[in-house]
Amino acid sequence: MTEKQYSGVLIFAQQKNKKIHKISYELLGKGRLLADELKCNLIALIMGPEEIDVQELIYRGADKVYHISDEEIFNMPDEVLYAENAAHLIDEIKPEICLFGATTFGRSLAPRVAALTGAGLTADCTDLKIDDDRKLIQIRPAFSENILAHIKSDVYPQMSTVRYREFNEAIRDENRKGEVIVAEPVKLVQSSVEILEEIEKDSINIADANVVIAAGSSVKSSQDLNMIKELAELLGGEIGASRALVESGIISKEHQVGYSGNRVKPAVYIACGISGAPQHIAGMKESGIIIAINNDPSAPIFNVADYSIVGDMYKIVPEIINALRDK
Ligand SMILES: Cc1cc2nc3c(=O)[nH]c(=O)nc-3n(C[C@H](O)[C@H](O)[C@H](O)COP(=O)(O)OP(=O)(O)OC[C@H]3O[C@@H](n4cnc5c(N)ncnc54)[C@H](O)[C@@H]3O)c2cc1C
Repeated sequence: MTEKQYSGVLIFAQQKNKKIHKISYELLGKGRLLADELKCNLIALIMGPEEIDVQELIYRGADKVYHISDEEIFNMPDEVLYAENAAHLIDEIKPEICLFGATTFGRSLAPRVAALTGAGLTADCTDLKIDDDRKLIQIRPAFSENILAHIKSDVYPQMSTVRYREFNEAIRDENRKGEVIVAEPVKLVQSSVEILEEIEKDSINIADANVVIAAGSSVKSSQDLNMIKELAELLGGEIGASRALVESGIISKEHQVGYSGNRVKPAVYIACGISGAPQHIAGMKESGIIIAINNDPSAPIFNVADYSIVGDMYKIVPEIINALRDK
C-alpha cells in the first residue's frame, strides 16, 4: 500500500456512559489544524450506543463521523473489542494519521490498534506537526523530559497517542456541517477479556480540577496531609502530589502531577513543599496562577511561580486556612 492511498486525519473519540470525553475535543482541535494543512478530511471515530450526541463532534470540527453503534459490545471498556472494530474501520477507510488520547483507556487501546493495522505508534505526544513531505512529526519528551524527540513513521497510518490537556479544545460552532456514517460493528470477535464488574473509584479528577493544592516529600505522614486536604476543601480544589510523596505511600498515584503522572491546567496551583524538579514542572507549568511555598529560597519551583512564599509550610498553610475561615 503506498502512502498516496491514505488520506484523512482520524481521531478516536472516547465516550463513557454516552458522554464524550473532553480529550476528544482536544484531538479534534489539533486534528483540524493538521487536516487543514494536509487539505484532507478530519474524521472522528466513535463507538457506543445510538444515543451518543455524535453531532457534537461535527460542531467541534469533524467533517465525517463514523459511529460504530452497538449498545452491547461497547457498554464496557473492553479494549480488545474496541481495537478490533477500530482496526477494521481504519483498514477500510485508510486515514493517513490516527490520533488517540493518552488516557488510561487510550493508552491501552492504541497499541492494540497499531498492532492490528501494522502501524507504528508514538506514545504520549506533546506536539504534532507536518513536514515538507506531508509526513507527521510526532514530538514527545524523552530522557526524563530532557530532550524533545521528533519522530517520523515509515509506515501508514501514522499513529500517535496525545497527552490529555496538551492541546486546546476545538471551538464549538453549531453552523458546522458534516456527515455521520453509522457503521455496523464487527461482531465476530471474541474477547478473551471477561469484565465482571466496573467499580467506580472515589472520583478524583485532578486533570480537570480548577484548583489544585499539591504537596511534596515535605509531608511526612497522612496526618500532615490533613492540612492540605483542608485547604483543598476550602478552595473547592483537588489534592495533587509529587512523585516523591506518592512513593512514600502517603497518597495514591491518581494524585501524582508530572511527567509520569497527570498533566494539570487549573486556574490556581498551590505547590506546598515541592522542590520543582523538571519532571514535576512538566505536569503543572500550564496552570493559570502558580503559588509556591517552600522553605528553600533557591528551590526551582520558584522559577515558574507567580507568587513565591519562602517559609515553613507547616506555619503558612494553617495561616492561609485560618484566613479563609475568617472570611
Ligand atoms: C523518569 C522520571 C519521571 C518522574 N516523574 C515525576 C512526576 O511525574 N512527578 C513528580 O513530581 N516527580 C517525578 N519524578 C521525580 C522528580 O525528579 C523528583 O524526584 C520529585 O518531583 C521530587 O519531589 P518533591 O519535590 O516532593 O521532593 P524533594 O525534591 O525532596 O523536595 C522537597 C521540597 O520541599 C521543601 N520543604 C521541605 N520541608 C519544607 C517545609 N516544612 N516547608 C516548606 N518547604 C519544605 C524542600 O526545600 C524541597 O524543596 C520523576 C523522575 C524520573 C526520573
